[in-house]
Amino acid sequence: MNEDSDALPCAEKMVFDNQKDAQSTALAADWQHGASLKAYQCRYCHLWHLSSQPTD
Ligand SMILES: [Zn+2]
Repeated sequence: MNEDSDALPCAEKMVFDNQKDAQSTALAADWQHGASLKAYQCRYCHLWHLSSQPTD
């Protein structure tokens, strides 16, 4: 069985086409839920996700 082709580690995350969309959603989550999220570009799919972990 070979499952390493399509299953990205980020498959279940929210995904955004660009940084602007990701950041505006992060900001909305901050306002609505007090969640401190950060937009980052994914090394796997090269799109944008939100992380609650500080990244650099
Ligand atoms: Zn990804």
